[in-house]
Amino acid sequence: MLGREQAWSSLDDRYDVLIVGGGVTGCGIARDAARRGLKTALVEMGDLASGTSSRSSKLVHGGLRYLEHYEFSLVFEAVSERRVLREIAPHLVRPLGFLFPVYKDSRHKLWLINAGMWLYDGLSLFRSPKVHRNLDPKEVKEEEPGLNQEGLTGAPLYFDCATDDARITLENALDAREHGATVLTYVRCEKLLHDERGRIVGAVVNDLLTGDTKTIRADAVVNATGPWTDETLERSAAPPANPLLRPTKGVHIVVDSHRLPLTYAVVCFHPEDGRVLFAIPWGEQTYIGTTDTDFNGDPSEVHATRDDVLYLLAASNDAFPGAKLVPKDVIATWAGLRPLMRPMKADANVDESAVSREHQVVIGRDGLITIAGGKLTTYRRMAAEVVDTAVKLLRLGDRLPKKLRPARTDEEPLPGAVGWPEDDEYRQVLRYIVEASDRRLSTQTAEFLAGMYGMCAVDVARIVASDPSAASPIVEGRMEIMAQVDWAVSSEFACEVGDVMTRRTQIFFRDADQGLSAVSRVGARMAEQLGWDDQRRSASEAGYRKAVADARAWRND
Ligand code: FAD
Repeated sequence: MLGREQAWSSLDDRYDVLIVGGGVTGCGIARDAARRGLKTALVEMGDLASGTSSRSSKLVHGGLRYLEHYEFSLVFEAVSERRVLREIAPHLVRPLGFLFPVYKDSRHKLWLINAGMWLYDGLSLFRSPKVHRNLDPKEVKEEEPGLNQEGLTGAPLYFDCATDDARITLENALDAREHGATVLTYVRCEKLLHDERGRIVGAVVNDLLTGDTKTIRADAVVNATGPWTDETLERSAAPPANPLLRPTKGVHIVVDSHRLPLTYAVVCFHPEDGRVLFAIPWGEQTYIGTTDTDFNGDPSEVHATRDDVLYLLAASNDAFPGAKLVPKDVIATWAGLRPLMRPMKADANVDESAVSREHQVVIGRDGLITIAGGKLTTYRRMAAEVVDTAVKLLRLGDRLPKKLRPARTDEEPLPGAVGWPEDDEYRQVLRYIVEASDRRLSTQTAEFLAGMYGMCAVDVARIVASDPSAASPIVEGRMEIMAQVDWAVSSEFACEVGDVMTRRTQIFFRDADQGLSAVSRVGARMAEQLGWDDQRRSASEAGYRKAVADARAWRND
């Protein structure tokens, strides 16, 4: 495995494919390309998944509501991918029941919702995690006592999957690296390079941690920059006349599960505009989302506003009147931009929620391959389509390396799933983890780590065996341990305190104090690992404190 400096040096080589953007789309492309045997590099200007790919609703789902817009092929593709992702990442993609309460005055009657459920199960060829069933009002009351029961006629219970969006992105990057890809974070593409005929031949990139600049030569260049797609296209020789995207902002809020205890995820309808939202159980927390509003600003500056938070609280209080949630119940917020395709002219006036989630691969006149739109759930298929396109272009330019292998990204497990028991019965795995730590970790901690890292939890536990201090909690009273900081730095591309707190662990979202009490301890541990001086360490700690302040700015609105 290359260290960061070596990876930077290796950018002097010539690449078959250079990918700009380390969200789930870019990392999926890197995995696919590297597995086929293409010499692959990926540059990401922040941390992996620091854009939209850590700010989603964290669902691997067919998108029941897209049936309303007759997007059958999108739903079919998504439910097929849900099954594939369950197979290649069972530790990260877990079945979750969704309750769809129907009331006397609901827009759709129970029979219609039921028909939709049959269609949904049918499109997955009845291979949903479980087939839906109907709960009558009495059963609903037993299962979800906090839910508004007045006028309830019943509630179908259907199944989709929940995931950790940042970690699924990361595991794609880890697998790409294992198959020879060079992956560098905090490296920004500043300029796209063209030859004298105007063909794209690489990019000039800047290492944001050292200030160094480099030219990367590549025969195919992919723009996988999500909400930054149009900004990246501006750097190409032939930017399109109109923007490709119509980004919309989506906000989620997190509350303690004691304030909103849930057995299942619950589909809610906003009392003011009737939009669909979800309340989702998340271990000791519950999150509620999402908003969907047009956004025209800088994608790096997207945050929840007070109005967003109040809108989400209104929806939850309507669905769960007893909870009486107020702003001070909100532990954390996250806001992301959906990189949605701009509708064609005829559809230009559609409502934000009705903009299609389909994706498109666009080849510019200079040969730049852009992937726009899509969903987390379908990232793997999108990635395969992009690499197919890159291979075609390489072949046309007579630059295709002779021997390409099949990528088999639909069969080969992601790194944490290698060795994961097929029946998901992982008690034996917990024993390995406890043993690997020299019995310094409890079964409860082993279970927590297995849920996050899959089989790689064994490697995290080994750190504890060689350094008992690594078993201490990152935040007093919480499950995360210091070994996770070491592992994030040594093996998971973490370069900043925020990478560890927000995306390698979820302390940012889940801790009542958003981990502020642990910032200097994490900073000190990272400084030891990375050889930081005091200035570098305080800058990294300050960066995290600012991220927390930005996510809380709505409190002062
Ligand atoms: P991103 O994750 O944004 O990645 C693009 C990356 O490019 C960024 O990390 C950025 O830093 C980098 N970049 C930009 N410019 C440069 C440059 N010049 N140099 C280097 N790097 C650069 N999908 C689902 O399937 N299920 C869901 O539940 C779901 N919920 C969602 C909820 C919300 C609120 C939102 C906003 C989206 C949701 N989605 C969901 C959609 C899904 O999250 C996105 O489709 C997906 O994450 C997009 O990934 P991406 O890699 O294309 O973009």
